[in-house]
Amino acid sequence: MCGDCCAEVPASEVGAQLGELRLDAPAAPGAPAQKPWSEIAKEKMPYYERRVELFDKYHARDQAAMEAAREAAEPMTVTLPDGSTRAAVRGATTPLDIAGELSKSLAKRAVVAEVDGEAWDLFRPLEGDCRLAIHTFDSAEGRDAFWHSSAHILGQTLELERASTTTATWGEERSLKDADRETVQRRMQAIVKARQPFQRAVVSRDEALDMFRENKFKVELIQGLPADARITVYRCGPMVDLCRGPHLPNTGLVKASAVTNASRAFWRADVTKEPLQRVYAISYPDDKELKEYQRRIEEAKKRDHRLLGAQQELFFFHPLSPGSCFFLPAGARVYNSLIQLMREKYWKYGFEEVVTPNMFNMELWNTSGHAAHYKENMFCFQVEKQEFGLKPMNCPGHCLVFGYRTRSYRELPLRLADFGVLHRNEYSGALQGLTRVRRFQQDDAHIFCRPDQVAVEIERQLAMLAEVYAVFGLDFTAVLPEAALRAALDASGRSWEVNPGDGAFYGPKIDITVFDALRRKFQCATIQLDFQLPLRFGLQYVAEDGSYQAPVIVHRAVLGSVERMFAILTENCAGKWPLWLSPRQVMVVPISDAVFDYARDVRDAVRARGFHAEVDLANQKMQKKVREAQLAQVNYILVVGAAEKEQRTVNVRTRDNHVHGQRPLDDVIAVLLRERDERSLGSLFAEEDTKAE
Ligand SMILES: [Zn+2]
Ligand SMILES: [Zn+2]
Repeated sequence: MCGDCCAEVPASEVGAQLGELRLDAPAAPGAPAQKPWSEIAKEKMPYYERRVELFDKYHARDQAAMEAAREAAEPMTVTLPDGSTRAAVRGATTPLDIAGELSKSLAKRAVVAEVDGEAWDLFRPLEGDCRLAIHTFDSAEGRDAFWHSSAHILGQTLELERASTTTATWGEERSLKDADRETVQRRMQAIVKARQPFQRAVVSRDEALDMFRENKFKVELIQGLPADARITVYRCGPMVDLCRGPHLPNTGLVKASAVTNASRAFWRADVTKEPLQRVYAISYPDDKELKEYQRRIEEAKKRDHRLLGAQQELFFFHPLSPGSCFFLPAGARVYNSLIQLMREKYWKYGFEEVVTPNMFNMELWNTSGHAAHYKENMFCFQVEKQEFGLKPMNCPGHCLVFGYRTRSYRELPLRLADFGVLHRNEYSGALQGLTRVRRFQQDDAHIFCRPDQVAVEIERQLAMLAEVYAVFGLDFTAVLPEAALRAALDASGRSWEVNPGDGAFYGPKIDITVFDALRRKFQCATIQLDFQLPLRFGLQYVAEDGSYQAPVIVHRAVLGSVERMFAILTENCAGKWPLWLSPRQVMVVPISDAVFDYARDVRDAVRARGFHAEVDLANQKMQKKVREAQLAQVNYILVVGAAEKEQRTVNVRTRDNHVHGQRPLDDVIAVLLRERDERSLGSLFAEEDTKAE
């Protein structure tokens, strides 16, 4: 259990994680004027001192037990990840002792331990024969503990420096200002410099209630625990807090930190409860990594799809339909190109597209189980006194397609694809650009197959997925829950890991993570087996021996939501779309009005081959027109003058101002066609230039 000191460590937008801390409650309306912070801090000091006193008593109790164990010297065996073993003393040897035996540098860099799969403080004695791993900041487990401990440092800073526990009040106008930010940062650095140790003690529920009696939030948390709970409390410097841990051995490892943001929040994310302020900070073991993180944040801001979407006039949202995007003509081009890509893959991989209803009688959702598990995420309404719902997914509709007549084993696998519009009732406050919407489409498909076809189908789906992501230039990993699927994945030639205990709603699921250019992670694609839905709908096919059998469904999507993939791709290419996906592919720029007619001819010739081409006939200098087209991220700018008109050529330039010179128009169109149809990520003109040399 983690107290209100460090509630969660949410994944940040850029792949690193932020420590998070709830800070203060603004004054209730009509509350008396606030006291100065210094006074509040002084008032609270006795609480802190009393807690430390109590903590030291319980900690001494644990230390005495450790000493007794050392005396008893009961041997135990520690098995390390490489299979080697170490002798240790039960209840006395700590993971840090073992790390020190292994190597001095490891002991220095060690952040947290893992004992039989459980995260464990480096300074907490081992309790019996176990498997032990030592983590540094380089592993996910290490980073979790590192950032969690950092949140304690931030908490200590805010409680002591700003007198801002949940028992104090901070006026609504008191948001974290730049000056505050600096004070907070300086104070955090002082705590790091002091190398305050983290200490752990185990207490009973009554002991914990007594220890935190003046803090109603903590009392509420403790009262929610069973009476016989063994509660862990940690001390770091002058602060004692409820926490499940584990923590760093001391604060000295957190060498680089920065406050990044502050926002309003509510206790336990409940809007009816006390408003709080949430302070975000980031920390690293060294300055270099912090700088790299800050650079990535800046880069991510520049690439934000909401910003680029407005700059390039791709899409907008209107308050009259929150969470449902208006794609403008340029955005609709990108959207349709994505769907076109999937349609080509469907052709290659034997999918059949269907078009199905958007709204269904609630009876469908009762059969599918969505009414029981998912109704709050659905838009429901009355039609002729019966309840209907907008579909949040296509699967149940596809079950009706499968079941509408008798199916033979010869028809399987039946691969039904659907770009149908889906609606999910997201809370309006949670909506965010194209990444969290109410209305979206998926490249959704369901494969109805025999159990013996599952392995081959999974393999085909992974192959298709790899092809699509290669087109986007996105890397991905696939994590597999079930041994039954191993053979299929092995055959696909991709590396994979087993993800134990991932019980999903339908059946075993392959977790696919995509990485963009900033190495941010996204979940887009789905491949999931389903043995339940065919049974719920009573689906059957006639097998070779004439018996009736239930098919297996494989749910799968490669893009996932087209909307979300649109956002990811916008940010991945930073608005510099590859030609095949680009909403603005060619701009023809005439040098003077004497060649306006030729410029129009060029535009028409390029447009006739299916390119989004325009001609700039404004009364402006050629250089300015070129610059504007470049800023609009037009892939190619074709400049034409009298010489070009004479020879039916164009002067080719890119948006990055690479000048490829004068070329015959037909040759240029041939290169454009090749670049688009191969869905090349980069310009093929550079290649042409190399050939010419
Ligand atoms: Zn903690
Ligand atoms: Zn599905």
